[in-house]
Amino acid sequence: MTSSRFVIAGGGLAAAKLAEALRANDFDGTVTLVSAEEHLPYERPPLSKEHLLGKKSLPDFTVDPSQWYRDHHIELMPGTTVTGLDRGTKTVALPDGTTLPYDKLALATGSRPRMLRLPGVDARGVHVLRTIEDSDALLAMFGEVQRLAVIGAGWIGLEVTAAARAAGVEVTVLEADSVPLRAALGTEMGEVFAGLHRAHGVDLRTDVKVSEITTADGRATGVLLDDGTRIEADAVLVAVGARPNIELAADAGLAVDGGVLVDESLATSDPDIVAVGDIAEQRHPVLGRRIRVEHWANALNQPAVAALTMLGRPAVYDRLPYFFTDQYDLGMEYTGYVSPEQRARVVVRGDLAGREFVAYWLDPNNRVLAGMNVNVWDVTDKIKELILSGRAVDPDTL
Ligand code: FAD
Repeated sequence: MTSSRFVIAGGGLAAAKLAEALRANDFDGTVTLVSAEEHLPYERPPLSKEHLLGKKSLPDFTVDPSQWYRDHHIELMPGTTVTGLDRGTKTVALPDGTTLPYDKLALATGSRPRMLRLPGVDARGVHVLRTIEDSDALLAMFGEVQRLAVIGAGWIGLEVTAAARAAGVEVTVLEADSVPLRAALGTEMGEVFAGLHRAHGVDLRTDVKVSEITTADGRATGVLLDDGTRIEADAVLVAVGARPNIELAADAGLAVDGGVLVDESLATSDPDIVAVGDIAEQRHPVLGRRIRVEHWANALNQPAVAALTMLGRPAVYDRLPYFFTDQYDLGMEYTGYVSPEQRARVVVRGDLAGREFVAYWLDPNNRVLAGMNVNVWDVTDKIKELILSGRAVDPDTL
């Protein structure tokens, strides 16, 4: 292995953790991390939370300082987008026309914001949120505007809304579905977040369809709905989900579907290539189905397994999905997975109205599929244990 050349395409949390895991496993070959971003790999959750609240800046959530990469002989190529992958010659192409050979390759290219095809989306004052630059732009905007329209009441839309309210900005949230977060949490739990935002003065409108971002002199002035309603705003955030960056893999002929298909060990359809983080669509050994998880914990934990796979050692990624959010004074963690087609009922323990409770999703046989703790802490291990045990629970004594 000594002379092996390992290349990591991507520069987010998953990429950094993979570099760490390779060195932690005593890999002493070449590791080159090629990242489209100019910065050292950083974590994204603070971009819509602490950074927008002015509580943290980039060095606080940079994964490793530059000295760490030097100390561990990781070759960094920031500001460099991998433009092609040739599996025949085992090389990746770089924008300057050169190629980089690899013995093993890791794809960790993450996601980008999904854009709406609407008149006005390219106007000044229209924001998305994925990078530190996007977050900086939002933070600056908070100091300049009075009214923000947020299109999409998903996690990022709602977290930015909470930060904007903390900065004194009036926010209108426009959601196509009947309840925020319904696809992720179902109606009842989605309503918890609707109530939270309304209690903080947010004008949350559901069942609405945006047909245009209105502009004047190339600047956003608000949003037009398909029923003719106009919402005046000084800035607009488009937060309608993310798309995984799978083109590199797809163009190279790797098996892809919604993401890059990987097996239990995170190997792609090419045994010399692994995929981790947002792009990895894994056959999950515990859930018994393919899932792709766009969450921080996945990007944090998958690389340890992918590194072993790259090193030719047996490894399986079998962690349950986990994610968290912070909005106003509400902190939440969610563990487990409920598929859209699964029939599950929600059992709540605690104070729902006071937003201090644990919700459990149970299958028809009273087996726990997932749990969400809201302003209740240190229960994740219990929830995990309940899910993994596969045993039926008594909903009244949970
Ligand atoms: P990314 O973080 O997207 O990193 C991919 C990197 O690869 C980027 O630097 C990109 O520029 C680079 N890249 C892409 N293509 C190429 C290429 N061809 N060549 C070279 N480099 C390339 N998750 C939670 O669980 N809880 C949260 O509270 C939470 N909050 C979030 C808030 C925000 C604002 C965002 C954007 C995400 C949040 N997430 C949260 C999701 C979490 O951050 C992602 O799941 C995680 O960042 C995925 O990591 P990744 O390394 O797979 O991809």
